[in-house]
Amino acid sequence: MTVTLQTVAYLFASILFILSLSGLSSQTSAKRGVVYGIFGMILAILATVLGEKVEGHLFILIAIGIASIIGFIAARKVEMTSMPQLVAILHSFVGLAAVLVGVGSFLDHSIHVSSAAKIIHLVEVYVGIFIGAVTFTGSIIAWGKLEGKISSKPWQFKGLQYMNLMLVVAIALIGVFFCNANGNDATILLFIQIGLSCFLGISLVMAIGGGDMPVVVSMLNSYSGWAASAAGFMLSNDLLIVTGALVGSSGAILSIHMCEAMNRSFFSVIFASGNTKQNANVRVAIEGEALPINHEEVAENLVDAKSIVIVPGYGMAVAKAQYPIFQLAQSLISQGKKVRFAIHPVAGRLPGHMNVLLAEANVPYDIVCEMDEINSDMPDTDVVLVVGANDVVNPSAQDDPASSIYGMPVIEAWYAKKVIVLKRSMNVGYSGEDNPLFYKSNTRMLYGDAKESVEKLTKIIAEKSN
Ligand code: NDP
Repeated sequence: MTVTLQTVAYLFASILFILSLSGLSSQTSAKRGVVYGIFGMILAILATVLGEKVEGHLFILIAIGIASIIGFIAARKVEMTSMPQLVAILHSFVGLAAVLVGVGSFLDHSIHVSSAAKIIHLVEVYVGIFIGAVTFTGSIIAWGKLEGKISSKPWQFKGLQYMNLMLVVAIALIGVFFCNANGNDATILLFIQIGLSCFLGISLVMAIGGGDMPVVVSMLNSYSGWAASAAGFMLSNDLLIVTGALVGSSGAILSIHMCEAMNRSFFSVIFASGNTKQNANVRVAIEGEALPINHEEVAENLVDAKSIVIVPGYGMAVAKAQYPIFQLAQSLISQGKKVRFAIHPVAGRLPGHMNVLLAEANVPYDIVCEMDEINSDMPDTDVVLVVGANDVVNPSAQDDPASSIYGMPVIEAWYAKKVIVLKRSMNVGYSGEDNPLFYKSNTRMLYGDAKESVEKLTKIIAEKSN
């Protein structure tokens, strides 16, 4: 393939990626966005592999074949609830690839550049490896935290921020020496920076608490884009630069939106300085008693209600309750009730997690409301059904300045006339915070797996209406 044809193909692939991103911005066009992305990627791979200077096509084909099989099996096998972990581990691969490209590009003696261009090349290598290494280890820690292999409690010790700052300063200083060093000295300095950058990635993500993990996931998505972009500079591949920048900037925008949704400062999250809104040490005591309720009584409450709001959370994903929940909603709607779903921006374990699950169950978009749209309607709501949600309906985010989620906007379920919480036990949510909602006088706990409970409710309501 000639260079001109390759450039045209790269241009088309870039346009397809931009269309893909714009398609992914709304639920109705998301499928189209994915299709654009797939075609963009096929075109990008073909144009790169068939490029003029590319050799060893057989090896490339074998590598693509093996990777495709692994990717296909992993994507088919992975449970929807494990998707965040898969995304985190895939980010780590991008980081590792950027490190390997950087090291390869540094050790490649066929790259001859003049003195000024040499400095630029070394800076590209150094910065690319830095971003790649931070993304690599940071994503592995994020994977561990999401998988429950690493505690979601944040690393907190005196001087943590200073340690991170010192690491960044040390890495920058080593970079100056690296650009002026030759031979083995430069190689040793490069490997020292890889070690320090890897440690920085670990330290940055270990210092972030469970409640702030949504921002970390989108930040690592952004870092992986910048790492790919840096690899593009090292490989002089324009498409990789553009694609990486698209991923990097869209991930950064998403992180800013997530911070706004959680009322967090972007910089306090990425520099792991904890929840700056939390401003007390002594916890507000939880008062009241968590009262259980049975399915029969819940069904009666639902039959008597005129207005019902369903708040799904991570537990709905675990229980795979989205299909029966929609069946229940349909049967209530058919009885003339106003039923809506209330979605918190960080419910579940991925940005848009609940929207994806509800779309999968074909819940119409017009009954799916954002938190801001629905909070003001809570006092006029007869029953709020909390299905496997916990942190996103936790009033301590508003009432308890010592809570780690203090300041995060939440769905104000407790203002409704009655709140029914479907969960298996009194266990805490991802942030590790107790939930005073469960002890309020208008709340009742329906213990059990969310899917089984919802199926039972639907059955009882159907029997009642016959
Ligand atoms: P939470 O993790 O706070 O709570 C989920 C609840 O679901 C648990 O308390 C659990 O209680 C219950 N549950 C689990 N399995 C079942 C089941 N089979 N049936 C019924 N209930 C079940 O979820 P939320 O959605 O409320 O909040 C999301 C949290 O995750 C927030 O803290 C957010 O910051 C964080 N997070 C979000 C990310 C995102 O991008 N959206 C990414 C990373 C973290 P029990 O065990 O008693 O059943």
